Amino acid sequence: MSKEYSQQDIKAMQEAIKMSSVSIEGKELLGGPFGAVIYKDGQLIAKGCNHVLHDNDPSAHAEVYTIRQACSHLKTWDLSGCVLYTSCEPCPMCLMTAKWANIQQIYFAATRKDAAEIGFRDDALYELLKTGVYGTAIEECRDEAREVMQRWYAKFQEQGKY
Ligand SMILES: [Zn+2]
Repeated sequence: MSKEYSQQDIKAMQEAIKMSSVSIEGKELLGGPFGAVIYKDGQLIAKGCNHVLHDNDPSAHAEVYTIRQACSHLKTWDLSGCVLYTSCEPCPMCLMTAKWANIQQIYFAATRKDAAEIGFRDDALYELLKTGVYGTAIEECRDEAREVMQRWYAKFQEQGKY
C-alpha cells in the first residue's frame, strides 16, 4: 500500500512538532504542547504554537493561531491551496476553522487519544458533537436575529463579494 504523504510532508510535520515544543521552552508555558505549520505551493507560509495560557484565549490553539498568521500574511481569509500540518489531530474548533478557511489538506501526527492521555478534551468534544445538542434556541428572538441576517444578505447581493 502506498503512503498518502511524501518525504516533504514528513519534513513539514517535523517542523510542526518543533513548534509544539516552543510552548514548553520558556519559563512560563505559552499553552498546550501543540504546534502547526502551513504550506502553500511548497512554501512555508506560517508557523505557530498553542498560546491559550499566554493570551488567555481559549481559541488560540496552534492550528487557529497559525491559520490567523497565514491569513494575515496572505491578506485573505481564504486559504485554498494551503496545507495544514499539525502536531496533533485537530480538535473540532481547529478542524472547522481550517474548513472555514478552505484548507483541503490536513496532516497530523499524534492523535486525540494521545491528547486525552495528558488531560486534553479533544476526544470528549468529538463525542459531544455526536449528541447533536449544541445549545438552546430562544424562539421568541429568532425573527429579530433573522432580520439582521436578511439585511446582510441584501447588502452582500449588492456588493457581490464574499
Ligand atoms: Zn484545536
